Amino acid sequence: MKKIRNWAHTTLCRPKDIFYPQTEEEIVDIVKICNANRTPLKVVGKAHSYNDIFCAGEEGIVVSLKKFDRIEHIDYEKKCVTVQAGIDIPRLIKRLKPHGLSLKNLGTNIFDNIAGACSTGYHGSGMNFGIFSTDVVEMEVVTPAGEKKRIRREDEAFKAYGTGLGMLGIIIRVTLQCEPFYKLEVVEKRMKLEEIEAQFSTLLQENRHFKFIWIPHTDHFMVWLANKTDKSESSFLKKLYTYGFIGVVVNNFLHEALLFLASFNRKLVPKINRFMSRILLPAEGEEARSVYASHWAFFLPHVLKQDVVEYAFNIEETFDVFREIIEMIKTKKIYVDTPIEVRFVKKDDFWMSPTQGEDVCFIGTKIHFPLMRRPEYFRYFSLIDQILLKHRGRPHWGKQFRITTEDFRRNYPHWDKFWAFADKEDPNRIFQNRFSKQLRGE
Ligand SMILES: Cc1cc2nc3c(=O)[nH]c(=O)nc-3n(C[C@H](O)[C@H](O)[C@H](O)COP(=O)(O)OP(=O)(O)OC[C@H]3O[C@@H](n4cnc5c(N)ncnc54)[C@H](O)[C@@H]3O)c2cc1C
Repeated sequence: MKKIRNWAHTTLCRPKDIFYPQTEEEIVDIVKICNANRTPLKVVGKAHSYNDIFCAGEEGIVVSLKKFDRIEHIDYEKKCVTVQAGIDIPRLIKRLKPHGLSLKNLGTNIFDNIAGACSTGYHGSGMNFGIFSTDVVEMEVVTPAGEKKRIRREDEAFKAYGTGLGMLGIIIRVTLQCEPFYKLEVVEKRMKLEEIEAQFSTLLQENRHFKFIWIPHTDHFMVWLANKTDKSESSFLKKLYTYGFIGVVVNNFLHEALLFLASFNRKLVPKINRFMSRILLPAEGEEARSVYASHWAFFLPHVLKQDVVEYAFNIEETFDVFREIIEMIKTKKIYVDTPIEVRFVKKDDFWMSPTQGEDVCFIGTKIHFPLMRRPEYFRYFSLIDQILLKHRGRPHWGKQFRITTEDFRRNYPHWDKFWAFADKEDPNRIFQNRFSKQLRGE
């Protein structure tokens, strides 16, 4: 039997078969055959989602478009690129560079597949930017009936496809708005939470990208700012030191070894957090500056496996929710071993987007699995879910959550409209799976 495991090793899918089509015709044939036989069918991108959103079940077929990954057209005037949907972000970045183009905004994981990112609300941070799909000008899909359909950004149907969760057919082609190649100057500095709150609107408005983190069990908060610059790039040695030594060796391997010890005694976590914070964060009153090509600036190396919860809230609630989480961790004595990250994203109009209708902050928190040992973390994630729901939080579709259909319906005003659209497009529900059944309470 075939197997697909997600990046975090929290999900294992065992579909009946996995196909790697290389042409549009093959994709259309697979969809038509599955639809005629009512065989469950899902597409997998890079399997970076932390849940089973891309699984088809044991009777189902999984399709990977990794062999359907060419750049088809570059419109130099409009700075748009049209790609086959199997391309992943690193390959796209590499192929855009000789043409003097860059992607507008990225998250910290820059290894996703383009269509996967379009389906789950993948996002970075910065008040001038929406989720990844807001940079899509047009997509082409093979519908569950096996017909090809073009959907432009301004079409009503894009409100469904903009965050389609992989439930609406197979995206085969995407046209993305890019911008001329640019560099970002990254500034990292320690600030107190009260200072971040007092300067919040300036930090948001005066920086192209802004996010902040808290190291649990410490009073260390760090602000991350990134702005376009013409300064020359930091040296190769600095890049090697930052990403190779600090990012991979220290922040992943050393951290993993320490957390492995803490998996036998969680009370060590606060000490490890303080130690890592002293190594990784600039000292009080100092700031770290570096200049990189934009994709390097966004990137954060992830090696150490983890599970993650990330919800979006109305931006006005940022500090109330954040303080409630800090308080909960203290009072319930939960040992949280990684930074809690707060990012900001502009609103959009996609029916299933966590950012639909309002500017949001995304609050994300993780628990690591050192050498694949998993500390008990469900209690933490359940407590987090309760706080986040109280504030009308909407989960990231590629991450973990344990909330009910009623919660979703309450927090997503277009919930029923989306599923009615999905059922109309796919009356045999071949693209729906265990994940969608759980969402729909079926
Ligand atoms: C270490 C790590 C860091 C992360 N950092 C971030 C971050 O900074 N920001 C963020 O927002 N997320 C982040 N994520 C989450 C993850 O990157 C997103 O969920 C991402 O969108 C998943 O992309 P993928 O290519 O792996 O898609 P998959 O997980 O493989 O699939 C996701 C969905 O897309 C659908 N899909 C894929 N291809 C197609 C297609 N051609 N047509 C139709 N549907 C399709 C699948 O069926 C599925 O429903 C991170 C994940 C990891 C593991």
